[in-house]
Amino acid sequence: MVVRRFAFPLFALFMLVLPALPVPDFWITQSNYIGLYALVALGLVLLTGVGGLTSFGQAAFVGIGAYTAAFLATKVGVSPWLTLFAGVGIAVVTAFLLGLVTLRMSGHYLPLATIAWGLALNYTMANMEWLGKYDGLLDIPSLHLFGHDLGTGRGLHDVIWLLALAAALAVTHLLDSRPGRAIRSLKSGSTMAEAMGISTLRYKLVAFITAAVLAAVSGWLFAHFQRTVNPTPFSISKGIEYLFIAVLGGIGNVWGAFLGSAVVRVVEDQLQVLLPQLIGTSGNFETIVFGIVLVGVLKYAPDGLWTFVGRWLPAAPRVRDWGQAAALPARDKPRRGEALLEVDRVRKEFGGLVAVNDVSFRIDAGDIVGLIGPNGAGKSTTFNLITGVLELTSGSVRFRGAPISGLPSRGIARRGISRTFQHVKMIPEMTVLENVALGGYLRTRSGTLRAMLRLDREEERQLFAEAERQLARIGMADHMHELAGNLALGPQRLMEIARALCTDPALLLLDEPAAGLRHKEKQALAGILRQLKDEGMSILLVEHDMDFVMGLTDRIVVMEFGTHLMEGTPAQVQASPAVRAAYLGTEH
Ligand code: ADP
Ligand code: MG
Repeated sequence: MVVRRFAFPLFALFMLVLPALPVPDFWITQSNYIGLYALVALGLVLLTGVGGLTSFGQAAFVGIGAYTAAFLATKVGVSPWLTLFAGVGIAVVTAFLLGLVTLRMSGHYLPLATIAWGLALNYTMANMEWLGKYDGLLDIPSLHLFGHDLGTGRGLHDVIWLLALAAALAVTHLLDSRPGRAIRSLKSGSTMAEAMGISTLRYKLVAFITAAVLAAVSGWLFAHFQRTVNPTPFSISKGIEYLFIAVLGGIGNVWGAFLGSAVVRVVEDQLQVLLPQLIGTSGNFETIVFGIVLVGVLKYAPDGLWTFVGRWLPAAPRVRDWGQAAALPARDKPRRGEALLEVDRVRKEFGGLVAVNDVSFRIDAGDIVGLIGPNGAGKSTTFNLITGVLELTSGSVRFRGAPISGLPSRGIARRGISRTFQHVKMIPEMTVLENVALGGYLRTRSGTLRAMLRLDREEERQLFAEAERQLARIGMADHMHELAGNLALGPQRLMEIARALCTDPALLLLDEPAAGLRHKEKQALAGILRQLKDEGMSILLVEHDMDFVMGLTDRIVVMEFGTHLMEGTPAQVQASPAVRAAYLGTEH
């Protein structure tokens, strides 16, 4: 713990006093490069390691920062400090436009688009007369601070490292925040995050733009470090090298970016001297060695070299500092008996298969309604239609009197419908508490900059207090600091219910919540649902365990082969020969 607490201040202090020590200029230069690389790699940690979005084009954003600084200072005469804002501004606009086009698409489109964009920008730099073509732009003025010329080596070192360390802190803060949890949820697909009200496109853009800004800052520094720019350092092969640095260091970890930069910079330099001596001819042979190293790292330490360092810096458990936090805002609840959900002839066709065939039913506020039927009857599909995960083929859904069909799933969440999934959807590498806190997304406000500057702490305390309250309600408060992925299936389902409750819903949709639970856990769950009902909660419940459903529900809707078979009280349903036939026909 102690090691962890002082690691960052000690490291920062060491880097900042380094130029004042009798260290050879060569090592100061290396250190400058490490800081410059780390800035870019940090962006990739956020974008690729955390967000799961691969970019080969970061060198192009470095180029934007560098060329903007060079052009404005040498051709327009703008003060060097102001060019930083211009470079960052251009990077933000470019990343926004590029991201808007490519981030909606899944799979390989983004990596391919970043390659295309990297090549295009590099080509532009190399062929524009006003950017000096292959010769680039020369004689960039050096940075001045309080009348001191920062020059290119020792003087600039602390500017580079102050920015790199500040960026590391900002990204660390971001990852432990409302927008950060949204970015961390991107890798697990969009369905769950959207159902919690998160716009996944928005956070893909946030990650993409943040990475572009960090790269542009690195480029701006680079221009004042080299005092010239030309297209070579911003080529696509440099973009690949940045990705290599991040992967080697540990793509999911902020400090992996620094470790990867240090290792690559130092080894690259040694190899450039050593390899030609060994082989007898000169060339970029270090690339081959790096390729081999990368394969080895991916095989034996897939989380990068940071794994070996991180072992000595155990993660501190979250301090429970939210005991006194105020309650989050809550929504106006519907009055008991008010028409809550009206499902009107909803239909879903998958190609030729009619999964849901013009099904209608309604839920009044305060009711627990069961939705039962054999496997494949269309229950989960009905859930997906109500919550906007799937588009209706026809029909309509009204909630609290207003139509909700056609809204995106996050819009429906905003109106007060929350749900769990038949196949648990969670972020396994987040703690139980953080997973539940995702449910409170729409009840909180903090954005990216607030989070980076740590101005979101009070709201975070409120959110965690609420998340803990919901976990306590389902008897899981003791597990809040565990990683969600380490839980057994039963507790994972309960965690999903706590997450849904954390949204402060007016209607709760539970898809097979008791599946995989042990007998005692089932009884406890039934108790919790009864208590929720007493508090006025309305619930739509899919469940196979008949005893569970019969003892709990006010009304039951029975589906078979996509159609509405019958509807009635538990007693009526139990007595129905048609229901019995449906179940005997397929299972049991
Ligand atoms: P239940 O939840 O009642 O067991 P589902 O709603 O999951 O049933 O499925 C109803 C039918 O729709 C099944 O035949 C299933 O194979 C089909 N189905 C569900 N989702 C899809 C999909 N995304 N694409 C094609 N068919 C689907
Ligand atoms: Mg199902």
